Amino acid sequence: MKVTYIEHSGFLMEMEDAYFLFDYYKGGIPKMDPSKDIVVFVSHKHGDHYNSAIFGLLEEYPHVRYILSSEVPVKWFITQEAEKGKDVEPYLNKVRKKSDYEFILYNGKTLKVHTLKSTDIGVAYLLSYEGKCIYHAGDLNLWLWAGETTQANENMVKAFWNSMEDLRGKEIDVAFVPLDPRQEGDSFAGLEAYLEVTNTKKVFPMHCWRNYNIIREFLRLHPTREGVVQVVSQEGEEFLL
Ligand SMILES: [Zn+2]
Repeated sequence: MKVTYIEHSGFLMEMEDAYFLFDYYKGGIPKMDPSKDIVVFVSHKHGDHYNSAIFGLLEEYPHVRYILSSEVPVKWFITQEAEKGKDVEPYLNKVRKKSDYEFILYNGKTLKVHTLKSTDIGVAYLLSYEGKCIYHAGDLNLWLWAGETTQANENMVKAFWNSMEDLRGKEIDVAFVPLDPRQEGDSFAGLEAYLEVTNTKKVFPMHCWRNYNIIREFLRLHPTREGVVQVVSQEGEEFLL
């Protein structure tokens, strides 16, 4: 497996016969092998997780499909393509929180998708493909803020742990989990909880707003997570797993 960090929460995973592209919003999408499946995931419609440029991949590659949180706007795209005589609806799959889906890829293999309820909007994705389990959190995180009311932070803790129950005890091969320096003293709590609840081989911190030092800081506080929590230091960086 190869993981390319694109930008923010955007990653490209390359498997033997398929690519999974997550939450692309800017940066360069690497050139891909057109003979492989490309599955494009969007966790929610916020501008730092979604860019309509992803639909351009349909022009470039033959085996593309989209898995989109239900609130991601697509009507405009369907209409725009219909005017050109092209029906793109079959390529677009909308998903809801706390649901299970199965997709048969162009290569004939099955991709299982479980969605979790985010603590922001939209979903987090738990995928099962070819014996590998992959998790992309979207904006599912323990969003505690010093300036928030106690009540708001308590509600956040409840909502977060409700969603974490879906992951408890799971064996996960590769995960993408927020680590957001804007939360200051509360930045680490979400990733700490994720690592406690699951058994994950490799975690890529994301949503760092290019402040990659926060990853080293996390590892200084949690040296036993060295090797599990991957240090990411620049956009476009590639990792062979
Ligand atoms: Zn975000």
